[in-house]
Amino acid sequence: MYQHIAVDIGGTQLRAASYLPDSTQPVKIKRIHTQDPRSSPLERLQMLISEVWPEEDRVAGIAVAAPGPTDPYRGVVLEAPNIPGWDGLPLKTHLENHFKVPVAIGNDANLAALGEWKFGAGRGHHHLIYLTISTGIGGGVITDDRLLLGGHGLAAELGHVTVMPDGPMCGCGVKGHLESFASGTAIARFTEAEIARGVPSSLPAGQTLTARLVAEAARSGDLLATSVIMRAGTFLGIAIANYLHIFNPTLVILGGGVTLSGNLLLDPLRTSLQNHVMNPGYLDDLKIELAVLGDNVGLMGALALAHTQFPD
Ligand SMILES: [Zn+2]
Repeated sequence: MYQHIAVDIGGTQLRAASYLPDSTQPVKIKRIHTQDPRSSPLERLQMLISEVWPEEDRVAGIAVAAPGPTDPYRGVVLEAPNIPGWDGLPLKTHLENHFKVPVAIGNDANLAALGEWKFGAGRGHHHLIYLTISTGIGGGVITDDRLLLGGHGLAAELGHVTVMPDGPMCGCGVKGHLESFASGTAIARFTEAEIARGVPSSLPAGQTLTARLVAEAARSGDLLATSVIMRAGTFLGIAIANYLHIFNPTLVILGGGVTLSGNLLLDPLRTSLQNHVMNPGYLDDLKIELAVLGDNVGLMGALALAHTQFPD
């Protein structure tokens, strides 16, 4: 018998779990803080993996969901903004040398798409787009039953498509990307700026807001909060119309905290989608659904990668 080990690397938490080949219920599961003055994040990761290592079964492979841009072919973390010293880290080589089993690495949003497709909202679809809308916006594309990677593994940065030239500055340093209009951060910052400009709102002036507070205010009828979420939905619709034209998916899966705004976000998104799509054929049978894997999506994505890479 063999097991897979799935690992989810976040800026605040590392998680690892071991799984039997036909199960999504972990045999062992552990989590620790990513950063601690007593040991490096890599040492902590290796310790965590050892803790879920099976006692008798062998390990067919370790699959890792890494934050930020990642080269899945070489297994290198290209950028890890929340983990000092990890930019350019050859994580696959480090782990293979340490554990003597094959290791596969993917970008966490790409793997979330793979996880939702294999185990979540995307089961049974052959072509889907996954978009996670939280602090930033990430995504993944399944096309013809495969995860789209691209020449350097950098495909499907769906949050960083330009929706307005010279628009607001995006987290990546380029102006006018979707993320600069529709991420949780963008929703909070734009609301703060509008209040500072004198637009009336029930939300307090001169305070740091969150997208959750803006959504709550919108649900209570605050006109500014409602208009900011509508604006986010409208720009999401523009971007998704572009994705439909390129990939012609049958399903769009939306994940991340901002989707908790529900129809406040989804109604303007659907209207905008209809306004920007070139042919109604793209909308025939198109489903827009919420992600179902929730907090487990990182581990489930890594497990899906393990299944594709190490079928045994
Ligand atoms: Zn960007």
